[in-house]
Amino acid sequence: MIPPSDVFDLEGFQRALLDWYRVHARPLPWRRTTDPYAIWVSEVMLQQTRVDTVLSYYRRFLDIFPNVASLADAAETQVLKAWEGLGYYGRARNLHRTAKILCERYGGIFPDNEPGLRSLPGIGNYIVAAVLSFAFGKPFAVLDGNVLRVLARLFSIDRAVNDAKARSFFQQTAQMLLPSVNSDLHNQAMMELGALVCTPKHPRCMECPVDRFCTSRRADLVDRYPIREAPRKVPTRRMVIVVLVRRDGRMLLIKRPSEGLLGGLWEFPNAEIDAAMSFEEGMRRLCASMECGSTLSRSRPVGSVRHAYTHFKVAAEVFQVDLVEEPNGIRVMEFCDWLDRNRMDHYPLSKLTHKVLRLIGKEDR
Ligand code: SF4
Repeated sequence: MIPPSDVFDLEGFQRALLDWYRVHARPLPWRRTTDPYAIWVSEVMLQQTRVDTVLSYYRRFLDIFPNVASLADAAETQVLKAWEGLGYYGRARNLHRTAKILCERYGGIFPDNEPGLRSLPGIGNYIVAAVLSFAFGKPFAVLDGNVLRVLARLFSIDRAVNDAKARSFFQQTAQMLLPSVNSDLHNQAMMELGALVCTPKHPRCMECPVDRFCTSRRADLVDRYPIREAPRKVPTRRMVIVVLVRRDGRMLLIKRPSEGLLGGLWEFPNAEIDAAMSFEEGMRRLCASMECGSTLSRSRPVGSVRHAYTHFKVAAEVFQVDLVEEPNGIRVMEFCDWLDRNRMDHYPLSKLTHKVLRLIGKEDR
């Protein structure tokens, strides 16, 4: 919590922060609008993704889907294609689902209240506060990673910023800092301070507009904050990936189920294998499962790819298999397609799939 008013000059803090923000704010496109749709899209993209990366995606996404109705009318494949490369594809599927609900139940208009927003898929505390603050000017404190870090340092908070149980404590602290007017600018300023000055490494305390309010700076304890719980060890999964190539050069891609990790994206046939199995054996079994064993004319290892997801890493060996004829097992598969490289550009592909394409020389490095 923030210290009592005889110790902490709340108005002085708010003024210093806002004065600094008015001079130093980056001209980010989502700050020039109060359209809840554009703000919602930007905030969903900004979760787990850097501003630099989001900029081009945000502009392109709004070009393709300029409003809720255009997003609701799109096919899921089109939405995933526009999202391709941003990762965390559940975000894109939730955007799409929410746009449909907004059109069906709310006439395409965003609710301007907490219960209405919370009832929508993929909209949690952060997005609720961001939309209510930035689109509707309501006094909701926005708490992202930057704000958590600033708060932890400002008040030397001895609770871990990644501890879910400490969330409400940080949220209340942020809420207490919020001014009654310009609360939206205050929220932007807190985030901007964390992004530009109170950075994760080497914070620029000498340039900080609120250094005189900062307890960890005064106590020379900036390096101690924020406190984090040690991350869990991320396991590595071994996989084989098989690029099946027909005589006409087309390659087989399979669509992942709509729900779950990378849902709705297209990828080469693959399988996870346990530690005891060789990659060659894994490749043979995968090919056998698609009944392409007898049609193999050549199979060869083409190299390794690595990829890191949030909760696990992938270490995969890639094999190219040149086929004499189409395997029997594939004919009964529902969501698969034989594609040449140009046609693949119309399908949403995972980053791992792009890495495989680079490995087999089908994509620029
Ligand atoms: Fe962060 Fe340093 Fe400013 Fe404190 S003085 S808020 S640690 S940049």
